[in-house]
Amino acid sequence: MRKPIIAGNWKMFKTRDEALQFVYNINMKLPSTEFVDSVVCAQSPILRDLVKRQGDNLRIGAQNMHYLDSGAYTGEVSAPLLENIGVEYVIIGHSERRAYFNETDGAINKKLHQAFRYGLKPILCVGESLEVREANDTNEFVRNQVELDLKGLGTEQVKSLVLAYEPIWAIGTGKTATSEMANETIKAIRGVVKDLYGKETAEAIRIQYGGSVKPGNIKELLATSDIDGALVGGASLDPESFLALVNAGVKK
Ligand code: PGA
Repeated sequence: MRKPIIAGNWKMFKTRDEALQFVYNINMKLPSTEFVDSVVCAQSPILRDLVKRQGDNLRIGAQNMHYLDSGAYTGEVSAPLLENIGVEYVIIGHSERRAYFNETDGAINKKLHQAFRYGLKPILCVGESLEVREANDTNEFVRNQVELDLKGLGTEQVKSLVLAYEPIWAIGTGKTATSEMANETIKAIRGVVKDLYGKETAEAIRIQYGGSVKPGNIKELLATSDIDGALVGGASLDPESFLALVNAGVKK
């Protein structure tokens, strides 16, 4: 049995005051981590404040980090710092980072190794563009991403990471992949993990769906065989909406 994980990706939204108010509103209402993992991934300057105020059932994640410990990389954030301030998760390879900041699979692979070196739990994002989907190349495209991104990782590491399948055409567009479509691709991704790491690892790894997930469609997505949670942008910004999403995770 894989425990569902619902993660909010706040992107470049929320001031410190807004973020703390959100945490204050939801802390006492979140379901137990026994049933579902609830995570919010925020902008770097407020991560420490959020870690200090997270209740027992909330975990905090970063949205990116560099693959080196330190150095002359103006504007970047290091894994040792994230570990030092108590951050537990880190999103790696989000499609917006791949598209707007030229992140390659090679860099993403280095980031995954670095995250594990510092005990951070990566949420690795993969997913195809509309062009790839329409050319019927989705499975091949995500297979290639997964193979390159996981290169050199050990079985235990892969078991503990979270994968997020996010079709780029469904992010922030209101177009959700149908639950069957999302489940089929997630099954294919699980198949790639099986080919690389064996059945036990493939059955243990949690794979989320992301892309216009909302309280109104999450139940249907989670009712499928292989979708273990959601990575949610827009609908994670409002406390009531976030609570509805994590509560849907409890019933998976
Ligand atoms: P969305 O974003 O839920 O706003 O589509 C998802 C994501 O980018 O992780």
